[in-house]
Amino acid sequence: MSKVELKNISKVFPDGIRAVDDVTITIENEEFVVLVGPSGCGKSTTLRMIAGLEDISSGELLIDGELMNYREPRDRNIAMVFQNYALYPHMTVYENMAFGLKIKKIPREEINKRVREAARILDIEQYLDRRPKALSGGQRQRVAVGRAIVRQPKVFLFDEPLSNLDAKLRVQMRAEIIALHKRLAATIVYVTHDQVEAMTMGDKIVVMKDGVVQQTGAPLHVYHNPTNRFVAGFIGSPPMNFLRCRLEDRGGILYAGNVRVADEHATALRVMVGREIEVGIRPEDFTIAGEGEKSEMSGTVAMIEPLGGENNLHIDAEEPEVRFIATLGSDESGFLHLGRKAHLGIKKGHLKYFDAETGRALLGE
Ligand code: ATP
Repeated sequence: MSKVELKNISKVFPDGIRAVDDVTITIENEEFVVLVGPSGCGKSTTLRMIAGLEDISSGELLIDGELMNYREPRDRNIAMVFQNYALYPHMTVYENMAFGLKIKKIPREEINKRVREAARILDIEQYLDRRPKALSGGQRQRVAVGRAIVRQPKVFLFDEPLSNLDAKLRVQMRAEIIALHKRLAATIVYVTHDQVEAMTMGDKIVVMKDGVVQQTGAPLHVYHNPTNRFVAGFIGSPPMNFLRCRLEDRGGILYAGNVRVADEHATALRVMVGREIEVGIRPEDFTIAGEGEKSEMSGTVAMIEPLGGENNLHIDAEEPEVRFIATLGSDESGFLHLGRKAHLGIKKGHLKYFDAETGRALLGE
């Protein structure tokens, strides 16, 4: 398997659209990297440039240190799995998987061996004689993955491979692809707009917006230390709540609106006193303020999403006037019915702070 390096890669389409802007990513040998971002952020174009399906306007693409910019797709030793599977309808599963190898004039016994091994790994041996139309969505997706495996590529590229599947199958295929990654010790670049997929699958995630990489890192690192407001709002479900407020010094103690700034953050934030900032609060960082405890956010329960073990409470606060979401255990929040007043605290030291103008995280990454 292999290391893939994107160095200052840009893509400008003939109509002048800069779909990918100065992207630098290193994908280590055997690493599972997920490119994630909203629709139109340039993640598919980045993947297609790695595959050789799209020319690179500027920058360098290296695989194992070798420049790939001008290599034909078939000479890059890469296999790509698409969202729509792209199986040949008139061929059996076996033929679909064998086709690419036949074209390469690989000996018949070798093809047979590779197809059967891939079918075994993916648990589709019993479907080898069927045509794609006689398979479920999940089975077709496995055939598409099988077709990639038999090529024994240096790098696997996945472009939203699970988005056609229903929720349950998506969870199952997610687990299968993670297991496959370990089993094949494969280098994988995986594109998705689904942040849950990114969080659960990637060794490393690359969050993109408007063609620009916003942040790269291990999923939990990015979750806990978003570099800017965009990443903070994009990663996490339900999303982070944001409050615009002024940072004030009240008798030596810093407050962001009504919320006291934790001592460990006060020194770094003191330079912003008097300025507008945005405070970010994850839904799970709220607590119920008990009897006699000071509540930091209060409001009226406007909607409840019961998830079983926990509730997502949508709360309309009066001061400041915002709707925010708090995720609280069902046991502790069961008494909060629609229309009732909720008094909440915030876990100490869990607030995020952003520059209101630039969106930059004020405590650094
Ligand atoms: P999605 O999740 O919707 O597929 P994406 O993040 O993969 O989005 P891309 O498909 O890479 O985004 O597109 C990035 C930008 O480039 C978009 O603004 C898109 O409209 C534009 N774009 C893509 N292909 C072309 C093309 N062939 N010509 C001109 N512009 C294009």
